[in-house]
Amino acid sequence: MVGGGFGGVGAAVMLKREGYEDVTVFEKGDRVGGVWRANTYPGAACDIPSHLYEFSFAPNSWSRRFSPGPEIRAYIEGVARRFGVLDRVRTNTEVKAAEWDEESRKWRLETSAGPHEADVLVTACGQLSVPKVPPLTGLEDFGGPVFHTAEWRHDVDLAGKRVALIGTGCSAIQVGPAIQPEVAQLDVYQRSPGWTLAKGDHEYSGLLRAAFRRFPFLHRLDRAGVYAFQDLAAAAFTRRRWLLPLFRMLGVRQISAAISDPELRRKVTPSYEFGCKRVMLTDDWYPTLTRDNVELIAEGVDGVTPSGVRDATGVERPADAIVFATGFASHEFVAPMEITGSDGLSLESAWAEVARAYLGLSVPGFPNMFLLYGPNTNGGSGSVVNTIECGVGHLLAALREMERAGASRIEVTRAAAEDFDRELRAALAGTVWQSGCHNWYVDENGNDPNNWPWTWSAFRRRTRELVPGAYELAGAR
Ligand code: NAP
Repeated sequence: MVGGGFGGVGAAVMLKREGYEDVTVFEKGDRVGGVWRANTYPGAACDIPSHLYEFSFAPNSWSRRFSPGPEIRAYIEGVARRFGVLDRVRTNTEVKAAEWDEESRKWRLETSAGPHEADVLVTACGQLSVPKVPPLTGLEDFGGPVFHTAEWRHDVDLAGKRVALIGTGCSAIQVGPAIQPEVAQLDVYQRSPGWTLAKGDHEYSGLLRAAFRRFPFLHRLDRAGVYAFQDLAAAAFTRRRWLLPLFRMLGVRQISAAISDPELRRKVTPSYEFGCKRVMLTDDWYPTLTRDNVELIAEGVDGVTPSGVRDATGVERPADAIVFATGFASHEFVAPMEITGSDGLSLESAWAEVARAYLGLSVPGFPNMFLLYGPNTNGGSGSVVNTIECGVGHLLAALREMERAGASRIEVTRAAAEDFDRELRAALAGTVWQSGCHNWYVDENGNDPNNWPWTWSAFRRRTRELVPGAYELAGAR
């Protein structure tokens, strides 16, 4: 397993529960947690209700409806410990390359701690693990600290400082409200605004938490409700786009309720279709923008000077620190790890046009390899934790099939992968993500390697079992 986040930990536990004991998880960081280990910026929190943003086999007593980052990090670590897989995680160990050896039918891994051999390779690297900082002119000459939200500098005290926050995506709308009360000035540089909905976050009272614990069906009922709403959103973004104007109305209402200044309202109101960029859930972003020490600069950034940031109209504003909330390299998936398949082809070249995998999970030419949260398994809705569990379910189905057939090799057929790809492209073409805005899903050639264009129930249904004929098995050598 490559990656010790929700994917690596969840898969290790689910494999163990099925009796697979010989599992090693390689994690390049110093502890498990994945994206929640990396993103420690103030205000980091889940934006999917926690009763769905948890493993179905490990319900938790959360403190809030949308739990904060440190609590999620502790949860992942707690699950790894409780289910006895923490000792299977090799931290501070990066997998640099993996090569399939047809002779022995094994994956040969090159890690920072030496070689390793495996029958099955599972990548669980996440889609958003490589921070992206735009190459702004003059950035290297800026006099103060500069950092990305995913690499937060806890040694830098922002209290009383003039801070330039660049970007207005999901990370920015969490970090901005969290630091605004302490900084002297917060200049928010927006390139294009995003649609939002009210988050409705709240603490769970002791009584409610006790009720969820005492009557687990209440917890499951709430989870089912969240799931149904996320599935409805998935349908709205894909096949039922007629639903989107209803959501848009709520977004417009949220803006007008929080902002009275017509100019600011205009600046934060997107002109593209609701859902095209990831919809952001927030209760405090718009109120923050109305504070005296906050300015929203909607012209975007032109460059950086030694003492400040210059917007696209040429106006320079002084800054003591720059925070980039500018997102991630989202189209590279397992990079920089190099994976070489059965005919010597690298995954990078197989994905030269666009990253694609059968059900987001397997690639022809790469036997005994499964990708968790792989290509086209994201969405503008849904819980990645649930997506990961479905992926592991598919992996387990494949392992069972190998055992049943006495096989040492399993590979998705080219025909199954190509049929799926055709179906996927046709479905993606009708989604809101392709409706003309700039988002982190669609690449410069118009391909979307990130999103699943159907509902989450469909993902669960399609990944649960292997479709007869989709995979080719070969016996032991
Ligand atoms: P993002 O959504 O990709 O947002 C990046 C922001 O930076 C956008 O506003 C973008 O503007 C702006 N930007 C990029 N380059 C710029 C430039 N050169 N000049 C000015 N602005 C620039 O990244 P993110 O906020 O880190 O979120 C990424 C994803 O992570 C989210 O969609 C979500 O799936 C996930 N996330 C989840 C949570 C959670 O609560 N669970 C929290 C944070 C993130 P444009 O819109 O114009 O491109």
